[in-house]
Amino acid sequence: MKGRIFCLWTALLLALTGCAMTPADPDTARESIQVIAMDTAMLITTYGERSPAAAYACEDAIRELEALFSRTDPDSAVSRLNAAGSLELSEEETELAGILRQAGQYYEETGGAFDITVAPVVSAWGFTTDSFQVPAQSELDRLLPLVDGSAVTVEDRAAALGPGQSIDLGAIAKGYAAGRLCTVFNEYDVPRALADLGGNVLAWGDRPDGTPWRVGIQDPAHPDDKEALVGVLELVDAFAVTSGSYQRYFEQDGKRYHHIIDPATGKPADSGLTSVTVVAGTGAGNGAMCDAYSTALFTMGEAKALEFWRSRQNGALFSLVLVTEDGRVVVADQTGRFAFVPSEESGYVYETAS
Ligand code: AMP
Ligand code: MG
Repeated sequence: MKGRIFCLWTALLLALTGCAMTPADPDTARESIQVIAMDTAMLITTYGERSPAAAYACEDAIRELEALFSRTDPDSAVSRLNAAGSLELSEEETELAGILRQAGQYYEETGGAFDITVAPVVSAWGFTTDSFQVPAQSELDRLLPLVDGSAVTVEDRAAALGPGQSIDLGAIAKGYAAGRLCTVFNEYDVPRALADLGGNVLAWGDRPDGTPWRVGIQDPAHPDDKEALVGVLELVDAFAVTSGSYQRYFEQDGKRYHHIIDPATGKPADSGLTSVTVVAGTGAGNGAMCDAYSTALFTMGEAKALEFWRSRQNGALFSLVLVTEDGRVVVADQTGRFAFVPSEESGYVYETAS
């Protein structure tokens, strides 16, 4: 809604200054909208002559995907799959098959660290409804056998879960949506754009002055201070996705519990990391990949995450920025697509992995 108001103001200003009569300069014509969707506030800025139409097409695409992937909307395809255990997919729902296939691939690649069937455990902690609680161990023991990504089956027009299972696409849906925006940008001849879908950034092209987009990585130690950064990524044609223990958590009896669950234990991952950022180029599928990997690598911890990164032989290349509990920032680049500028005043020790 806010976005529409913003647009109206832009139109008003243009009308007042008379600029609306002259053709838009593709380098400076731009539209910025805010979209509240997928449980987060998203900011999309598009450039080019068709920037307003492109921005609203992005919003439409995101809303379409939310209507498929939401776990809280009882009418979504995911909710109906969770309720019935299987689902015939209509023509409009075939994208669910696509994301489930990708999710299955990332489950395999990460050895189960990324697992959408962690849904019942996420709910037991109250992260689905915001009614947070620490579940009893007996409850986790009852739910853990349901966490098994290999039991999900997908066909072009159907999907099915194992008995009692449900799925949560919260760790991949926003990255998938960021990927979908590339299609919109191509369709609307958008030369450059920056989309931040709640920690899932798509830097499309470069900035109007020819320099890279600059995207800050939040300091997990100061989540409420938006100025507190561990560093800045300089990006051109890239996705950058951050998962962090500071993004969603609750406190009980003086202890903090965050929302990234280790599927092996059913508990918030205690991996020694406080955030993981994954960067990759804008190739097909890479938005969802960055999202899934950032969650998975957070649960793995530094040593396994770097091992996973080093062992990459097939598939898209990606780079990492890991922030550790003991005050280090580890940068591992295999794409050559970005520069990382440390915030020297942050107090972190910076390391480069190879
Ligand atoms: P993200 O912010 O992308 O790291 O995703 C975190 C969200 O994904 C959580 O709020 C849960 O809904 C869900 N989730 C938590 N742990 C996992 C996991 N290990 N694999 C897949 N999804 C998860
Ligand atoms: Mg994720």
